[in-house]
Amino acid sequence: MSVFHDEVEIEDFEYDEDTETYYYPCPCGDRFAITKEDLENGEEVATCPSCSLIVKVIYDKDEFMQGEVVAEPVASKPELLKC
Ligand SMILES: [Zn+2]
Repeated sequence: MSVFHDEVEIEDFEYDEDTETYYYPCPCGDRFAITKEDLENGEEVATCPSCSLIVKVIYDKDEFMQGEVVAEPVASKPELLKC
């Protein structure tokens, strides 16, 4: 049902670290946007907030889901409780 305006590889998106969002220029002058979280959830549709166009994001889902999960502290030895 959805008709993609285009298919764009994630490499062609511009990443904004502050908002953790990937942007790609839309013909209307605004930008398509898709968040990193969306990508990690398997979402592949970037939307433009100013018009109804959407683009399909081409990326390796597996790589994204595995590569970005580094939140766990490795050197987390249980500290001794001091009284
Ligand atoms: Zn637009």
